[in-house]
Amino acid sequence: MFNEIVAWSLPFVPKAIVRIVAQRYIAGETLQDAIATVGNLNRNRASATVDVLGEFVESRQQAEHETRSGLAVLDAIAHNNLHAGLSVKLTSLGLGIDEDFCYRNLRSLTERARDHKRFIRIDMENSPYTTATLQQYRRLRDDGFDNVGVVIQAYMRRSEDDIRALAELGASVRLCKGIYDESPEIAFKERDEIRDNFMRLLRLLFELDMFAGIATHDKVLLDGARQLIEETKRPADRYEFQMLLGVCENLRSEIIAQGFKMRVYVPFGSDWYGYSLRRLRENPQMAGHVLRAFFTGK
Ligand SMILES: Cc1cc2nc3c(=O)[nH]c(=O)nc-3n(C[C@H](O)[C@H](O)[C@H](O)COP(=O)(O)OP(=O)(O)OC[C@H]3O[C@@H](n4cnc5c(N)ncnc54)[C@H](O)[C@@H]3O)c2cc1C
Repeated sequence: MFNEIVAWSLPFVPKAIVRIVAQRYIAGETLQDAIATVGNLNRNRASATVDVLGEFVESRQQAEHETRSGLAVLDAIAHNNLHAGLSVKLTSLGLGIDEDFCYRNLRSLTERARDHKRFIRIDMENSPYTTATLQQYRRLRDDGFDNVGVVIQAYMRRSEDDIRALAELGASVRLCKGIYDESPEIAFKERDEIRDNFMRLLRLLFELDMFAGIATHDKVLLDGARQLIEETKRPADRYEFQMLLGVCENLRSEIIAQGFKMRVYVPFGSDWYGYSLRRLRENPQMAGHVLRAFFTGK
């Protein structure tokens, strides 16, 4: 209850306080910060996917700026020989402005990634963009790119159909619960329903022999996934676990120590506020952290 009150009032909490509590989720503001974080992860046997923070851009200039930032990330990853790719939100590339314009930006990133033998993961945003996001992915595949994958959200009722449609492309899918606030008409809302659908969809990805990025920190799902991997003798190059920077790091180390592949999502940039609010709202200890930062500045 207390957590809910703090979650509701977060937008009124001074940005300086949010920043203190949220810094664990962000590599920093600069590309150098992101590169240093990825280097550390690689040394600890985790690969990474780097995200330049920013979404829902409103101008073409802003979207072009985001595209240039993504290109710089890909160059830096290759230059530093890092085991990492790029995650992109299509609203940051202009999906909300003009689909062809967005596609040109996305295509230039995918081309650069292909030149560097790196992978682009298209994040999934809120439901007004689901169909358009999947269409952009399909367009890339039609244009011959295979260094690109999508995200499916287990809370969306449409997700099983989306996976079946993606199967013909042999798509690489990151499966996560989903983070946006969707209506019950289109999304499961109860924790157990979402978990059940996550496991159903993971089983389906395995049955259809699609690559699965298992993106969760939920112990119930992690246990279920490990059991399914064992049961189905899933080859190690057909799945990986994925977690967010700063979340459940002990659990992450445990999974790596068990010999599983792990990829960490590494966001960085000056536009950290929206992403941080979403992360804080998911943290069960968030209220305590926010209060501590209020009183101690740490
Ligand atoms: C690699 C990756 C990529 C993602 N990409 C997308 C995407 O493209 N689109 C999208 O909609 N969503 C994305 N998500 C977010 C996802 O949908 C969930 O909102 C998020 O992962 C929390 O769900 P969970 O499965 O970890 O379960 P939860 O039940 O939320 O969390 C399980 C446990 O993890 C811990 N935990 C979770 N979050 C936090 C936190 N912030 N701080 C501290 N502890 C925490 C808690 O102990 C909690 O009990 C991504 C998640 C990951 C891991």
